[in-house]
Amino acid sequence: MTKEEKLKQVCSQFTFKGIFDEAEPYGDGHINDTFKVTYVDDDKKPTQYILQRVNHLVFKNTVGLMENIEHVTSYLSSRITKEQQAEGYEILTLIKTKGDKSYFQDDEGNFWRAYVFVKHATGHTFAEDANMLYEAGKAFGQFQHLLSEYPAESLIETIEGFHNTIWRFKNLKHAVHEDPLLRADQCREEIQFALSREEIASTLVRGLESGAIPLRVTHNDTKINNVLLDDTTGKGRCVIDLDTVMPGSALYDYGDAIRSCGSTIAEDGENLEDLKVNFEKYEAYTKGFLEAMGRNLTPQEMKWLPLAAIIMTLECGVRFLTDYLEGDNYFKIHKENHNLIRARNQFKFVDEMEKQLDVMTEIINKYWR
Ligand code: ADP
Ligand code: MG
Ligand code: MG
Repeated sequence: MTKEEKLKQVCSQFTFKGIFDEAEPYGDGHINDTFKVTYVDDDKKPTQYILQRVNHLVFKNTVGLMENIEHVTSYLSSRITKEQQAEGYEILTLIKTKGDKSYFQDDEGNFWRAYVFVKHATGHTFAEDANMLYEAGKAFGQFQHLLSEYPAESLIETIEGFHNTIWRFKNLKHAVHEDPLLRADQCREEIQFALSREEIASTLVRGLESGAIPLRVTHNDTKINNVLLDDTTGKGRCVIDLDTVMPGSALYDYGDAIRSCGSTIAEDGENLEDLKVNFEKYEAYTKGFLEAMGRNLTPQEMKWLPLAAIIMTLECGVRFLTDYLEGDNYFKIHKENHNLIRARNQFKFVDEMEKQLDVMTEIINKYWR
C-alpha cells in the first residue's frame, strides 16, 4: 500500500463529509505526524480536516490522552461565550470515527485522530512583533480562564513528572555521577549554576503539594505556534496541541511561555552577551495573559509569576544539560555540543531574569486586577 492509499484508508474511518480528494503533510509540528485532508462534495466544494498520527513513543497512554482531550474540548465548547465566539475565538473540535470514537487505531498500533480545520489561521514559529505575543498570551489566558472550574485532578498525566523539577534535578545529579561520556568536566560551571538553584527550583512543585497554589488544568506547551492566529486580523483564533493538557499549575504555562518567547536571542543562540530579557515581548505576553486570566489567579500565583519564568527556564536548561551528559538521547541535536549550547543559553536567560526580577514584577503589577 502506498502512503497515499494508507492515508485514504485511515480517512475512511472518520465521519468526514463528501469524498476523499487529497491528504498532504501539514504544519511544522515536531511531535505528531500532521496532515491536511481535503474532501469534496458533489459540487466539488472542498472541506478541509486535520488528521494526526499521535506519537505513541512520547505519549504511552494514548487512550488516556485522547480521553483528556475529549473531556477538555467538550467542556470548553460548553463554556465559551457568545462574545468570545463573535471575536473569532474557537475551540479545537474532534471529528469522531464512524464507530463514534475520538481515535482510530490501525493494525500497526498507530493512533489516528482528526480535527475541524481552522481556516485562514497560522501557527507562527517565531513572533516577529509583540502583538502576536499579546494575542497568544490572551488565547492561552482565555483557555485557562474557561477551564478554571474544571476538576483538574480528573485528568491523567500524559507525561509523568513533566514539570517535576525535584525529579529533573535528581536526574541531573545522576547523570553527573554516572558521566557515561566523560563530559562533566567540560561543564562544571553549568552544573554548579543549576545545582546552586535546586532549592528555589522546587518552589512550584512544593507549592502544589502544600496547597499554596491551586492545581489547575494546564496546557503545558505554551509556545506561540500552538495558538493559531487569524491571517487577516492577527487575532488569536484557537489554542491547539492539547496532548500535554494535564493537571498542573497556571505558573507552568505562563513561565514556559516566557521562557520560549521572552529572550532577545534564539533558544540555541550562542552570542550570550546579546541575550537579555526582551521586555517588549515580555510585557505583551503578560498583558494578554493577565487580561484574560488575571482575575482567576490567586495572590500567591500572581506573586510567583516572574519566579515561574525563571524556574521553567532553569528546568529546561537542566533537561538540556542532563541530556548532554547522558549522550543526547532525548533532544535531537543538529550540531556538536548542541544540548550544552542550549543549556548555557537557558542558564544565561535565568541569570538575566534574576537580575531583572524587579522590573518583571513591576510589569505584572501594572496588569494585576
Ligand atoms: P505537534 O505536537 O506535532 O506540534 P500540533 O497539534 O501542534 O502537533 O499540530 C502541528 C501543526 O498542524 C500546527 O503547528 C498547526 O500548524 C497545524 N494544525 C494543528 N491543528 C490544526 C487545526 N485544527 N487547524 C489548522 N491547523 C492545525
Ligand atoms: Mg504544536
Ligand atoms: Mg505537541
